Amino acid sequence: MIALVANDLARLHRKGWRVGDLLDYVEQRGIRLVLADPRRHIDFSSPYGRMFAQLSAIFDEWYATDISERWKSSIAHRKAKGITVSLPPFGTKRDKQTGFLVSSDEGAWLMPDGTWVAGKIGETAPAEGAIWRGYFQCAERILTLYADETGRESISRRLQEEGWAFRDRQGQPVPIEVDDVRRVTSNWAEYGGYVSEKRARERHPVEYPPDKIIAKLNPERAVFDIDFLAQVARSRQKRAVRKHPTDSVNRNAVITPLSGITYCAHCEHLALKHNNPRLRSRLWGRAGKYYRHKPGGGCGCSTTQVLREVYEADFFKLIRLLELKPDELDKLLLLATEVEPTAAEQEGLETKKAKAIALCNWRIQAAIDLYCDGRIDRPEYLRRVERNEREIASWQSRTTEREKLAMELTMCIHAIETMTRLWEVSSDEDKQGRARHLFEYVTYDLDRKQITDFRLKAWADQFLVLRAALYAEDTKNDHQVDDRRMTPTRLELVSSP
Ligand SMILES: [Zn+2]
Repeated sequence: MIALVANDLARLHRKGWRVGDLLDYVEQRGIRLVLADPRRHIDFSSPYGRMFAQLSAIFDEWYATDISERWKSSIAHRKAKGITVSLPPFGTKRDKQTGFLVSSDEGAWLMPDGTWVAGKIGETAPAEGAIWRGYFQCAERILTLYADETGRESISRRLQEEGWAFRDRQGQPVPIEVDDVRRVTSNWAEYGGYVSEKRARERHPVEYPPDKIIAKLNPERAVFDIDFLAQVARSRQKRAVRKHPTDSVNRNAVITPLSGITYCAHCEHLALKHNNPRLRSRLWGRAGKYYRHKPGGGCGCSTTQVLREVYEADFFKLIRLLELKPDELDKLLLLATEVEPTAAEQEGLETKKAKAIALCNWRIQAAIDLYCDGRIDRPEYLRRVERNEREIASWQSRTTEREKLAMELTMCIHAIETMTRLWEVSSDEDKQGRARHLFEYVTYDLDRKQITDFRLKAWADQFLVLRAALYAEDTKNDHQVDDRRMTPTRLELVSSP
C-alpha cells in the first residue's frame, strides 16, 4: 500500500474543487491519503519531508503529463481509425467490436401515470398500458422536427407533451430540455459517421459552414440517412445566420456560475406534490446577465428571470452562513491529535494497533487452549473467539474510517474557505466548479427573489449547518431555508434529477 501524504489538499491540484477526482483516483488504487496539519512547516531534510516532496512531485507529474499523454495518444490512435472518442451522441452507442456508432437499444417506458421507467428494446412492458419511448427514436424525432425548421424551444415542448425522455448520465430517463435538443442537433455530423477534430458544440455553423463536413459523411457508418442529416445541417446553418449574421464567436464562452445546480422553487413544489421528478426545472444562465426559467414554464411563477448579481449575492451570503456543526468540531479536534502523522505519532498509532491485535490473537489462542484442556465449554469458546475477531476487525478498519472522515472534513473546510475567500475574485468557471463541488442543488423562487432550499453534497452535509436564517424573519412564508431534513419523497427526486 502506498501512502500519499498531503499537507494541504489544495496543493494536490491547482483547482481545489477537482479534489473529488483525486479522491476517486486514490480510492481506486488503494492509496492511503494521509493528511497533515495544513499549517505545519515541512522540514524537507527530514525523511517525512523528503517523502512528502517526492510524492507531490510524483503526483504532479502523474496529473500533468501521464494522464494527458495517455489520453492524447489513445485519442489520436482511435481517431486515425475513424472511431469517435467522446460520449456517443444521444440515442447511440459504440459497437463493442468495431468501435463505430450504432443505434442504442435503450429507452424509457412511459407509464400510465406519466412517469418513466428505464428499459431496453424487446423487453416486456413493466406495466399494462406503458408506451415505449426509445432514445434512438427520440433523437430521430428531434432531428425530423428540426429539419422542418421547427425551433428548439417548440421541439422540446412538443417532445415533452408526447412523453419522450432524455437519458441522464446514469442512464435514467429525464425530461427533455432545450439544451438537450441543441445537443442532438449539433451532433448531426457524428450521427452521420463523421469523426471530428473539434467537439460538436465547438463547430459553430457560421464559422464552420456544413458543406465540407456533409461531403465527409460516411453512409456506411451513419446511423441516420445522410441526406436527411444534411438537411438538418442546412436548417441549423440557416438559423445561425439569421440569428447571428456576423457574429461567429463561441456563445458557450459565457458561463454563469450557478447554472446547472439551480432549480425553480415553483416547479420543485409541483414535482414534490405529484411525486414526479419530470416537473423539476433548472434555471439557466442567459446572456451572462440573468438566470432564466425554461420557456413554457406553467409552474405558476410570474417572473421568468433573475439578475445574476441579485441571486449570486444571496448565494454568497448562504455560503458565509454555513458553519461546522458544533459536535463535529470536537471530532475534528480529536482527529487532529490522532491522524496528524508525525513520524513518532504515526509509529505510536501503528504500535498501539499492532499491540491490540496481537493481544486479541493471544486471547484467541488462549481460548483454544482452554477449550482443548476441557476448562471451558464449546459455546463459551466460540463466544470468546468471535469477540476477539470482531475487535481485530474494528482495529483494522478504524484507521481507514478515521482517515476518510478526516479527509472529508478537511475537504469541507477547504471548500468553504476557498469559497468565501476567493468567490469574489474567481473566474466564472472556477465559481461554477466550486459551487458544483459543494452543492447538490439550490432552489430559487423567482417571484420572491429568494433561495428557498438547498442541499450540500453528502460529504459536506454531514459536517455543515446553516448558522442563521438566510432572510429576515418578517417574511412569514411556508418555505424556510434552514429546514434541510428531507422527506423520503424528496430524496427520491434528488437522486434522479
Ligand atoms: Zn418553474
